[in-house]
Amino acid sequence: MASAMVEDQIKMSKETNPFESMMERFDRAAQLLNLDPDLYAVMRVPNRELKVYIPVRMDSGRMQVFEGFRVQHNFARGPAKGGIRYAPDVTIEEVRALAAWMTWKCAVVNVPFGGGKGGVICDPQQMSIGELERLTRRYAAELIDFIGPEKDVPAPDMNTNEQTMAWIMDTYSMHARHTVTAVVTGKPIDIGGSAGRREATGRGLLFVINEAIKRFKMAPPNTRVVVQGSGNVGGIGAQLLHEAGYKVIAISDINGGIYNPNGIDIPNAMAHLRATRSFEEYEGVERVSNEDLLEIECDVLVPAATENQIRSDNAKRIKCKVLAEGANGPTTAAADKILHDKGIFVIPDILANAGGVTVSYFEWVQDRMGYFWKENVVNERLQDVMVASFNDVVKYADQHGVDTRTAAYMLAIDRVAYDTRMRGIYA
Ligand code: NAD
Repeated sequence: MASAMVEDQIKMSKETNPFESMMERFDRAAQLLNLDPDLYAVMRVPNRELKVYIPVRMDSGRMQVFEGFRVQHNFARGPAKGGIRYAPDVTIEEVRALAAWMTWKCAVVNVPFGGGKGGVICDPQQMSIGELERLTRRYAAELIDFIGPEKDVPAPDMNTNEQTMAWIMDTYSMHARHTVTAVVTGKPIDIGGSAGRREATGRGLLFVINEAIKRFKMAPPNTRVVVQGSGNVGGIGAQLLHEAGYKVIAISDINGGIYNPNGIDIPNAMAHLRATRSFEEYEGVERVSNEDLLEIECDVLVPAATENQIRSDNAKRIKCKVLAEGANGPTTAAADKILHDKGIFVIPDILANAGGVTVSYFEWVQDRMGYFWKENVVNERLQDVMVASFNDVVKYADQHGVDTRTAAYMLAIDRVAYDTRMRGIYA
């Protein structure tokens, strides 16, 4: 009995390793594509991994040394691109998986970037603004030779934001002796950010959900949506879905969620969250745990918090028609088949949440031109990219008789492989 439990734990820990999840899908897609073994050998590993130790003078006067990473996964199609995550439990394996996902994501939406990702092991909730600024600047200084508009362009991810990007841009610029706005994206608008960037991932989600529900002959007012997470992706996504007429019936943050089968007034609930930093006291709703929220019967489920939320142990209880993956890696590879057998239409993360990197690309372009676009121009161009990419993936899935996740991976790997082959491998 005890050994069966240990076996289950080992199985689950392998299943929830994001790098394993990514590689399982990569291997399946590579096999279906009949990928050349030389290309396979090169594309399955990151290009470069950096580990840095970051000394920070804490407010107490003591020195604390933090560990940070930057993984540059692939440069075949352009500079590495990807966010920086601050979290107590971030690991190099997680960052490596996230960097690879960026490579495939940029290829799915056809923007000329490779993939990268960064992480620093720290607990931002326990740190002052001053400590966070010193940590960010020293981390940026450690990366200085490896990042840059032509090399690797970081952006925000969990627990980092516009302010973090402003500090990185400033630190990099101080070393360069001139202002280099295009070194990061997701900056404040006044210092080289793009209109519409903050909302871009949520807006991209809206665009692909609009396309997906057409397949079920549904329209927003009769489409019930459940959102896990209420940050940049979940919160803004829920707000935009609500504005577009969707009925958002549940939403959560890390401490749990709220549920009302008749729909939640999302602007009001989000204002409450901003004011009290919690949904706990919000009235006229039922409380649900994050686990139970995922199992609510709905039309569109949007996991927009973190990895490994839908696994082999709960996938059979998911009751949606469309799964729109706002987060990176919210579904394990082992859960894919269960969802597929249930007939759930999956908009995979590397497509569903690609609105952020698409507008990051627009920001990088605008910084390099020194000419900034109006928000409606950004949003229209984003819509063009998201709708075209959605259609590319669905068409690819139909043509090859595979599910949409496999199709997205195949499409991305095919594009990266094609460009790698054209450039040749410098070996
Ligand atoms: P965020 O920090 O703004 O928000 C995260 C939200 O998830 C918060 O509401 C938090 O309370 C909740 N949360 C965190 N851990 C949780 C847990 N264990 N269980 C339940 N809820 C939890 O982060 P974000 O930028 O919205 O990113 C969310 C996800 O989307 C991540 O996977 C990120 O990599 C991915 N993503 C973000 C962007 C972007 O532009 N911000 C783009 C693409 C993908």
